[in-house]
Amino acid sequence: MRFLLVTDLDNTLVGDAAALLRFNQKVSANRDRLYLIYATGRSYALARQLQAEQDLLEPDYWVTGVGTEIYRKDERDPLWAEHLSQDWNRDSVAAIASTFPDLIIQPKAEQNPWKLSFLIDPELADSILANLQALIAQAGLKAQIIFSNDEDVDILPKHGDKGLAMTYLREKLNIPANKTLVCGDSGNDISLFQQNTLGLIVSNARSELMAWYRLCGESRHYLSRAPFADGILEAIVHFRLMRF
Ligand SMILES: [Mg+2]
Repeated sequence: MRFLLVTDLDNTLVGDAAALLRFNQKVSANRDRLYLIYATGRSYALARQLQAEQDLLEPDYWVTGVGTEIYRKDERDPLWAEHLSQDWNRDSVAAIASTFPDLIIQPKAEQNPWKLSFLIDPELADSILANLQALIAQAGLKAQIIFSNDEDVDILPKHGDKGLAMTYLREKLNIPANKTLVCGDSGNDISLFQQNTLGLIVSNARSELMAWYRLCGESRHYLSRAPFADGILEAIVHFRLMRF
């Protein structure tokens, strides 16, 4: 049976060119033994651009926009879009967010119908995001707020994040949780680790993910010694998903 490898792109798979080359060689040589999914905060267009720049292998699926969109080849999964739209009122959430001057709106390319993206000063993040969450709840709206990379704030539907998108695909592919490895480096990967699969935190992970790992990490989570793509290869061996 194939195993499922789900990896974040920036600073997880991508970040060390020599390690990425080793990863590409090992995975290409064993491509029929696994399904490959990229799960990124990038939009689909910017993820494809990174693929071209870095020579990334073609995955079976793309999870983009922090889990708000799923693509196979160039086609967006319409069922996932429909699922996310339940209990989601983008305009009302945007109106509340606009009352916080310290939330700086990100460029249009980073926004999509299921995602509002901002930048914030990390010193202000805790208090502002708590207030924002409270106002959203008071208004009777449903949304989740995800803080990553010490500056990115993504507001997403309650029903969609990287972890939920991964589980949707894992069930579609019929791969058990203990044959699924998720890999990440930052706060927007936490939802991946909160599902019930195996997990790799790369040694170069950001402080918000390391803090989460120290508090909530379980035996099914592995902190690699190596950074970036070498960490992914290390975890594949550690969990005995494949021998090279
Ligand atoms: Mg990352």
